Amino acid sequence: MKHQSYSIHNYQNIDQFSKFSKEQREAIEVVSKVFPFKTNNYVTDKLIDWDNFEDDPMFILNFPQKDMLQDNHYNQMLDLIRRGADKKEVYSLANDIRRQLNPHPAGQESNVPFLNGEKLLGIQHKYKETVLFFPTQGQTCHAYCTFCFRWPQFTNMDELKFAMKQSNLLTEYLENNQSVSDLLITGGDPMVMNINNLKAYIEPILNSHSHNLNTIRIGTKSLSFWPDRFINDKDSEDVLRLFEKVSKSGLQLALMAHINHPRELSTKAVQEAIRRIRNTGVQIRTQSPLLNHINNKPELWSRMWRHQVALGLIPYYMFIARDTGAQHYFGTSLKKSIQIFSRAYSQVSGLARTVRGPSMSADPGKVQIAGVTKIRNQKVFVLNFLQGRNPDWVNKPFFAEYDENAKWLDELVPFEDDRFFFEDEFDEIKEKQDKKIVRIDNYKTTA
Ligand code: SF4
Repeated sequence: MKHQSYSIHNYQNIDQFSKFSKEQREAIEVVSKVFPFKTNNYVTDKLIDWDNFEDDPMFILNFPQKDMLQDNHYNQMLDLIRRGADKKEVYSLANDIRRQLNPHPAGQESNVPFLNGEKLLGIQHKYKETVLFFPTQGQTCHAYCTFCFRWPQFTNMDELKFAMKQSNLLTEYLENNQSVSDLLITGGDPMVMNINNLKAYIEPILNSHSHNLNTIRIGTKSLSFWPDRFINDKDSEDVLRLFEKVSKSGLQLALMAHINHPRELSTKAVQEAIRRIRNTGVQIRTQSPLLNHINNKPELWSRMWRHQVALGLIPYYMFIARDTGAQHYFGTSLKKSIQIFSRAYSQVSGLARTVRGPSMSADPGKVQIAGVTKIRNQKVFVLNFLQGRNPDWVNKPFFAEYDENAKWLDELVPFEDDRFFFEDEFDEIKEKQDKKIVRIDNYKTTA
């Protein structure tokens, strides 16, 4: 399949464009001024059900929806467009709106570490064992998901971009931080990079014997948005050989595949891509947030996990939609999230129960809603850290008052206590980070 990308400038060329109503075209134009919009011909031709596209999860996953903007923001932007405002004015309003949408959720900017006094803008190091790396050339995707919590990466808000060119700094950083066992190469989607760029980042790591890595992970949506990346692109074979090389080096390579809906696993192309990747010795783990309008039904999750296991994939995470961007549109309440997770989990065999969740990637750490129970006749949420800024917080159940409407950790109230058990220490950690005392190994390393 020859790759064809579509954005606000040329989506009029997709075969199904005549199906769009005037209102839909207007909504796409208005919303795409604030949120990024990009799709491609694999998504439009193979994934979207055009007979019912208004409610189709694959369509909603890819095309900007009117309700992704609050009414006031939508109307302000519509107003500017209608009166033919110049680009500068539109851009300025778009940035104003973006700033109100929590563009850096979970304190991402405070995860940026230093090396030899220099701030490493392409790295985030939040948990002791795991470093995130944002290669400059991987800060885009084959198509953009409308819910994406990294949406600011794809706008022109340069100050919000995390990216770094120098792979040697990455290698040096890993050598200097022996607690790091996992490197997550992320984006955007690093699999948009050509083979030369992929090699430039990965091979120096293979050639260095001074770091303590066990696993390189690559976060990607290419499996389901552009499976030809592993089949027919001109460097597909080279990519697979690189995967093989990593596997044979003794390091594990894991693709962290973002799969939001079972339909993404249904095409011949995705199944062929999975087969080829697995033949290189690479593991594929899967993750997705729980999203209104896209995948908020338990049967859909259980079907997706079962199919993943049948294809040799390992279900890994169900996330809760983050407190950023269009959370009001995609986010589900914590109450509903645990109901959907529990029901789906109960319908699959043990092999699919590798999945964890529903989990909030919040500033203090990954907090799982483990369940709802009663203490002295009062309903409570049972919470649990799956990852924490302090590893000692992990796996210690704690309680919050039950709240039907809460969608995120900061909306919860501790049960029979003033503060959650981790909050005093969390404040201290944040204070140290503000003073540029960077937490790398047990909070001891200073910038
Ligand atoms: S592929 Fe990942 S990074 Fe890219 S838009 Fe989708 S969720 Fe965001």
